[in-house]
Amino acid sequence: MSTMKAVQIVKPGELKIIDMEVPTIDEKNNVLVKIKAAGICGSDVGIYKGSNAAATYPRVIGHEIVGEVVETGDSAKKVKKGDRVIIDQVTACGHCYACRHGRPNVCQNLQVRGVHIDGGYREYIAVPDTDCYILPDSVRYEDAVLIEPTTIAVQACSRAELTEEDELLIIGCGALGTRMLSIAKLHGCKIIVADVVDEKLAEAKANGADYTINLLTEDLEAKCKEYTTDEYGPTVTIDCACTKDSLGNAIKVTGNAGRVITMGFSVAPTEVTNFGITAKELDVRGSRLQNRKFQQVIDLIAEGKVNIDHQISHTFKFTDAQAAFDFNDTRDPSIRKIVLTMD
Ligand code: MN
Ligand code: ZN
Repeated sequence: MSTMKAVQIVKPGELKIIDMEVPTIDEKNNVLVKIKAAGICGSDVGIYKGSNAAATYPRVIGHEIVGEVVETGDSAKKVKKGDRVIIDQVTACGHCYACRHGRPNVCQNLQVRGVHIDGGYREYIAVPDTDCYILPDSVRYEDAVLIEPTTIAVQACSRAELTEEDELLIIGCGALGTRMLSIAKLHGCKIIVADVVDEKLAEAKANGADYTINLLTEDLEAKCKEYTTDEYGPTVTIDCACTKDSLGNAIKVTGNAGRVITMGFSVAPTEVTNFGITAKELDVRGSRLQNRKFQQVIDLIAEGKVNIDHQISHTFKFTDAQAAFDFNDTRDPSIRKIVLTMD
């Protein structure tokens, strides 16, 4: 038996470097991957702090997992030894209503790596070959972790049924909002980005947002009217902020027959009204994780349509995860994406 190091959240607020057994491959998890890098996501921070309602403890966290295939079972067809891969974080039962309707990302028995089962802040992981997606040669492991948040953005735009004709409002322009902007751009629609930080709004503008709104200094509703055709309001609003009033605001400003996409995991009650939804016949839809979007994003990167370079602001060795999470807590303005590396 050989052992490896892993980052375990023992309980909310307590992070520990533990020794655990190196997993072995079996009939189901027929591929062993040597993990090379794993991103730190807002949801990892949430599990560490105890604010993620879905998480169970103790848990080895990390769901943005890339590495090299080092061993395969006889039944593995999709990948071979030496392949560089990213691993799908979603595992599903395959037989519940959601699974039967092609939506394993909201499986009734959903087990997300790094949330409900152990994830990627460790040296090795055994997974089914079908959960591995081969990375383009040109992409470094560290950058490749960005493929996962990009799939989340693809999922949200897909749930929104975003088209060229839409006028989209993205609320929040942090890591997720930034990915959303880059994917939404590919749909050719008008894009308005709202945030509370001027620097982020300036970046959004530079990255192709048509208009920006500072939520602290400008009136969201008035500006949404001003920036949309016939003062209609956005036809789609995607809430990448999940703050106290972002959902209420989204429902307020979105135009008739529009769609509102929620992505947050907060369980704090928020104020919305029946009238706000009914009168405009809004579709309020959740977008969770992603539904088999990895290959699509990898193809977009390979075709040069999506760029994931130069977005990693800091890297830490995974055994220094405590320092990485502490640094993330400082909210230093230089922080974009923090990545843990395993070599
Ligand atoms: Mn993530
Ligand atoms: Zn299921």
